[in-house]
Amino acid sequence: ASRGYAAACVGALAAAQASLHGAEERLGRMDAIAGDGDHGRGMVRGVDAAAAAATAAYGLGAGAGDVLAAAGDAWADKAGGTSGVLWGAGLRAFGETVGNTTVPGSSELAAGVAAFADRIVELGKAEIGDKTMVDALLPFTSFLSSQVAQGTAPEDAWAAAAREAAAAAEATAQLLPLKGRARPLAEKSLGTADPGATSLAMVFGVMGPHFAG
Ligand code: ADP
Ligand code: MG
Ligand code: MG
Repeated sequence: ASRGYAAACVGALAAAQASLHGAEERLGRMDAIAGDGDHGRGMVRGVDAAAAAATAAYGLGAGAGDVLAAAGDAWADKAGGTSGVLWGAGLRAFGETVGNTTVPGSSELAAGVAAFADRIVELGKAEIGDKTMVDALLPFTSFLSSQVAQGTAPEDAWAAAAREAAAAAEATAQLLPLKGRARPLAEKSLGTADPGATSLAMVFGVMGPHFAG
């Protein structure tokens, strides 16, 4: 069964890869408004490397935790840019929390997501309202935890948290960026959602059926 969860992790990364390839241009255009325009390219480079590393690790018999750690390391190594470092470190933390031997239940899943978020906040030091991916990530994390605490089934809890994250990502349009490369041209980004929050909500949405299926 734990081998099955390693396969689910490979599937989650393949789903992320498909959706990021589809959104590459749009994410690039969003990042070009006040940033440097490379968010779509960077996410695609990162997820391509992560998906390949996950498939290779799985083929060598790795469990879910090691599959995710290998994927995270490859993502951070190949993506370039701020978001790649954060995504890579977050995936590794998720893997370390979920581990190799068990199929995570609701509370282990919530703990894995919390570890992903904690690592990203620890490294990037962004707070809610700074107009970064954290503005989608923290609402996702707390919504998932509270749904799980109420006994909601994992797939339903994840889907509800993903809707929350998508709404939170859209709401960043009204914020001014206080972290990252978009800060010097902050005013230009008013009216456009943060690219990193947008991609995070999208990727978490498509990963749900795999991680929490
Ligand atoms: P770069 O800014 O290095 O070109 P990307 O364009 O790939 O990297 O990613 C930009 C995104 O990274 C932003 O939209 C924002 O969501 C996220 N980001 C930037 N700085 C931080 C930070 N300190 N903490 C969390 N997320 C951040
Ligand atoms: Mg950029
Ligand atoms: Mg860049």
